[in-house]
Amino acid sequence: MKTLDQFDVKGRSALVTGAASGLGLAYAEAMAEAGAKVTLTDIDAEGAAREAQRLSAEGYEARFGVCDVSKLDQVAKVFDDHVAAYGGCDIAFANAGLDVGNGFWTPEGARNPDGQIDVYDPDRWYRSIGINLNGVFHTVREAARVMKANEGRGGRRGGSIVITSSNAAEVNEAIVGVPYMAAKAGVKHFMRHSAYELAAYGIRVNAIAPGPFVTNIGDGWVKKNPAAKKAWDELVPVGRMAETYQVKPLALLLASDAGSYITGAHVMIDGGMQLGPIKPL
Ligand code: NAD
Repeated sequence: MKTLDQFDVKGRSALVTGAASGLGLAYAEAMAEAGAKVTLTDIDAEGAAREAQRLSAEGYEARFGVCDVSKLDQVAKVFDDHVAAYGGCDIAFANAGLDVGNGFWTPEGARNPDGQIDVYDPDRWYRSIGINLNGVFHTVREAARVMKANEGRGGRRGGSIVITSSNAAEVNEAIVGVPYMAAKAGVKHFMRHSAYELAAYGIRVNAIAPGPFVTNIGDGWVKKNPAAKKAWDELVPVGRMAETYQVKPLALLLASDAGSYITGAHVMIDGGMQLGPIKPL
């Protein structure tokens, strides 16, 4: 098979969570640009609708759905609606997430937003785990359910699930929040087990582990605060934060047949951030 043909996802469909902004929007664009039909889902109904309409106006096949990934019934519904609209689901991005460490860069320098362990706010912990870890579990669970039904559809079976993890799953990066790090480390191991179990069904499961990308995460902290952006740029070995378009080729590799022998991988796209520690003040 020729190289570029393996990246073709025409005739397939993809569902993305957290698709109204940032990396999720980049994944949705990548899938649409490569020929897939896409459902953009988000807790932000207005944002998901706006981006789906924009992609449709550009000539792509796109629709939107509303779901809070921390709620299993809402995740199940967007998958069911996607299957009803597009006749199946081949690709799913379990992407929605947030960090709850807003303000992690102060004029004095980096700071662990959670403080010392004995004063952690339990509600921040529960909220982070509820979205960043439970939300991934809900999405992978429902993706597996609908993808198992792909057997024989158009001669294909299985599918591809891509989870957004973080370099914080690997390195002690407390400035993005300790509950967030714990959630992403959990995501990594859950991804590995899911890949192992679902391989028998032709379903591949991988994770993209980004370093610092310029998005709206942390209430768009780095977009609003040039000093924080500059400080992050200086922390990255390659010398700059990433822009979201830079994740698109990796997303397409993992989603398409180009990645047909890749499963259970936690792929770092971090400008070298895993190569050294970040020490908060
Ligand atoms: P973003 O804020 O730009 O986009 C996140 C999207 O998720 C938003 O549209 C938001 O409305 C949505 N969302 C938030 N909570 C949700 C919920 N409960 N249910 C459904 N949707 C919800 O941020 P981003 O940086 O694009 O983040 C996407 C993923 O990338 C997250 O999992 C994040 O942890 C991960 N990540 C980001 C970076 C980075 O530097 N930006 C680094 C590593 C990992």
